[in-house]
Amino acid sequence: MELTIQQALEQATTAHKDGNLQDAERLYRAILQAEPANADANHNMGSLALSSGQVEAALPFFKIALDAMPSIEQFWVSYIDTLVKNNQLKDAKLVVERAKKEGMDAKNMDALLIQPKPMEEIRILYENCPLCESNNISKSVVGDCSQQSLYNRIIPPIMQWMDCEDCQHQFINGHFTDEALEVIFSITPEHTTFGHNFEEGRKLAARMIDAVAPYQSCGTWLDVGFGNGSLLLTADEYGYEPIGVDLREDGVVALKAEGIQAHCDLVQNIEFEKSISVVSMMDVLEHIPYPKEVLMSMHSIMDEDGILLVSMPNSESWLWKFWSRENKNPYFNTIEHYHNFSKTRLVSLLDECGFTFKKYRVSERYRSGMEIIAQRN
Ligand SMILES: [Zn+2]
Repeated sequence: MELTIQQALEQATTAHKDGNLQDAERLYRAILQAEPANADANHNMGSLALSSGQVEAALPFFKIALDAMPSIEQFWVSYIDTLVKNNQLKDAKLVVERAKKEGMDAKNMDALLIQPKPMEEIRILYENCPLCESNNISKSVVGDCSQQSLYNRIIPPIMQWMDCEDCQHQFINGHFTDEALEVIFSITPEHTTFGHNFEEGRKLAARMIDAVAPYQSCGTWLDVGFGNGSLLLTADEYGYEPIGVDLREDGVVALKAEGIQAHCDLVQNIEFEKSISVVSMMDVLEHIPYPKEVLMSMHSIMDEDGILLVSMPNSESWLWKFWSRENKNPYFNTIEHYHNFSKTRLVSLLDECGFTFKKYRVSERYRSGMEIIAQRN
């Protein structure tokens, strides 16, 4: 049975989405043989070329797609974007002017002409391993953060990961400058806004608190980076005395409005009136340039036998290995992460900072996540 063009296109895009790129390309080419100016098949062939790094080869496909259907904004975006990537800035500017005349959004089109700043203006490069200070570090895998929701076009899209040969830690080549951070965090992702999806968050939080309770069932609970607040409010419900720290001002204001102690500062700069019984840092350490400093500072404000709860993706999980093998590890592209911790390295770091490993759990918060409970020595 012969496929119609529409059926072939559906099969091709499904194969494309599923990562079966050879099948997708074969089908697109068959469509183009029957209908050389087919806009979707041309556009998707361009995307295929881009994803294998063939910027110049992508251009004619994007151009045919655009000429065939100039009312589709995505076709303008793909063509202009690729001209910029191919260093044809003059041509790109001309096409942007045409796009505006055709009624495309002027602001969106102008934004396409913004080029990434040099890496050293965006990241402060690590000269040593940020955990063990060894200078025995080497380049590792490369990611691409340009498809992330927090991505801004002034950021170089390449993410160069580094390996420490001495302590086996993996980290990004440099942490962001203040200027870059301001641009990236001008967007507040919905899941970090205070009170977001609290009903689901409360159940998740209860399972974390149930894991901590056998080690520490009362006292002050300091949540660093409390985000939507679900862990802290649920800890309050269990009878802990909650204290919140977050760098997002609106969350801190919202927590204070509920009558709960909250601070908007780096946690190591805050003076707490009481000693802390439980510190939780859920998906925080992988965002901090030097996590050891923060862990040491937590040690100094905690009760003897106080409990530390941390979570982050685990680079030793099988899931992580499967993703990496199939070339689809989402964390290599995660713009806001500086570290890929393994369980082994995290446990030894905690030990260096005066904490004894107690319990390992799979974190339900994020993909491939781990949770570790440790006790202050
Ligand atoms: Zn190291």
